[in-house]
Amino acid sequence: MIANYGYKDGSGEFFITIDTDQCDGCGACAEACPADCFEVGEDPIDPLRDEPVAFVSEAVRKKIKYACGACKPVTDRPPLPCVQACPRGVISHSW
Ligand code: SF4
Ligand code: SF4
Repeated sequence: MIANYGYKDGSGEFFITIDTDQCDGCGACAEACPADCFEVGEDPIDPLRDEPVAFVSEAVRKKIKYACGACKPVTDRPPLPCVQACPRGVISHSW
């Protein structure tokens, strides 16, 4: 399942996407994120899933643009820690 967490407003679309079919719940994204955006546990989108999966914390979803601000300077953007940390390459961002 492709899980999209975030929102869109007049300034753009701000989503973190996780391909949960490929996520093994290793937790590397949660360890790497300086803003505690990720949790690993019961899938909030697919309650029938048995295995733990990464998801974006509910508290962060409505302010994800700002939570990720420290990782996304206007110029000379470095690789995002969460994207770099995921050994399966299943995290992407819409902005
Ligand atoms: S961009 Fe930075 S703050 Fe946002 S989810 Fe990734 S590691 Fe966390
Ligand atoms: S690092 Fe990747 S595979 Fe590991 S829990 Fe996070 S999204 Fe899933």
